[in-house]
Amino acid sequence: MALSGLEIYKLLPKTNCKKCGFPTCLAFAMQLAAKKVSLDKCPDVTEDAKRALESAAQPPIKLITIGKGDEKLEIGNETVLFRHEEKFYHPTGIGFLLEDTSSEQDLRKALEEIKKLDFERVGQRIKANIIALSCKSKDASKFEAALKVILQGTNLPVALMSDEPPIMEKALEISKDKNPLIYRATSANFKEMAKLSKAFKAPLVASAPTLEELEGLVKNLNAEGVQDIVLDTGEKGIAEKLWDFTQIRRLALKKAFRPFGYPVIAFTKSEEPFQETAEASTYVAKYAGIVVLKNRNPWSTLPILTLRQNIYTDPQKPLQVEAKIYEIGKVSDKSPVLVTTNFSLTYYTVEAEVESSKVPSYIVSCDSEGMSVLTAWAAEKFTAETITKTLKRLGVKDKVSHKEVVIPGYVAVLSGKLEEESGWKVTVGPREASGIPSFLKNLGK
Ligand code: SF4
Repeated sequence: MALSGLEIYKLLPKTNCKKCGFPTCLAFAMQLAAKKVSLDKCPDVTEDAKRALESAAQPPIKLITIGKGDEKLEIGNETVLFRHEEKFYHPTGIGFLLEDTSSEQDLRKALEEIKKLDFERVGQRIKANIIALSCKSKDASKFEAALKVILQGTNLPVALMSDEPPIMEKALEISKDKNPLIYRATSANFKEMAKLSKAFKAPLVASAPTLEELEGLVKNLNAEGVQDIVLDTGEKGIAEKLWDFTQIRRLALKKAFRPFGYPVIAFTKSEEPFQETAEASTYVAKYAGIVVLKNRNPWSTLPILTLRQNIYTDPQKPLQVEAKIYEIGKVSDKSPVLVTTNFSLTYYTVEAEVESSKVPSYIVSCDSEGMSVLTAWAAEKFTAETITKTLKRLGVKDKVSHKEVVIPGYVAVLSGKLEEESGWKVTVGPREASGIPSFLKNLGK
């Protein structure tokens, strides 16, 4: 739990010596509480105070990094139970389960399929994040061979799945540069797995079937010196997992319960793609750091990625595109000019429909603070005045030889005032973006 400035002050030397650059210890404490300075600026702080302050400064859920480079996956470091309280910070990593009993050809094919699970939505990339390789064969050489195929075929981070420390050690030897996730430490193997986690500096999954056993296991791993942990409550039904994950999150955030101050991993149980999508979506919503899927269909994965994207946006700041003039296709001075808001979903929906019409057009995106058309109109962010200002600011008249602008059908009511304000002829477009292709094809006929 974060300490207040006064609580921090009580732990400082209180000599007001100014060596930290602040006039008093209290002033330094206030800056420390606001996380604007670091504790090491005070050279006289005692070891006891340091320990107390450092543990208070730790996030309630530790940030865990798996993999390296551009594709590294960061999970945890969340601060709230409910998204509307602030926001969720580190999106759930979506992973795919592969088995070492598959042939090399099948593994390569699976990697190709996973590579294609990479989509663009409202201007952002949403994609797969991690491969979980299971040692189903229980044979070290087969596991190693399969791992080599994975390491050659993808830059995605890898979770190594075996309960056998000797098999894990060999796999870690060949993947140590990739900072893999070790799955898993249990009550039976935790000492050996802890040694491997420390030796290879790789995060480790602690797995136990009950929360009580999980608490004990994490404490044992901490005592062995392992701090980078991901929690797993084993194979269970969706309701039980939801219960586990909610309790873990609550205890970590509300009670600062250190054994549960780590992100969690979930494996879907269902083989059936629709069921699996529902299961995975539940875990994304509450509160998995990683969800590992069995199916790799684009149509069953896309809804999960979309849900994740929606949940991990800032609820206070809608996704926005830059308010500017966009050229769609090979525009000319005769091309139509469509006006819309800068809410990403609105803009990209309009853009997709304009593209599909094959009629080169300009889209003028007005700054509506990320609100959709009707909301922005109701909030007076998308009005005759704001559209007029935008047309002027962007110099739209210099791009085209006509003075005709198309507004969304939902704000047809603006047309008269907009004509007066801007001096442009206003044409009311369709209400729904899906009507844009036929509207543009018939425009001017
Ligand atoms: S250096 Fe430490 S003891 Fe000196 S004023 Fe700053 S906080 Fe207080």
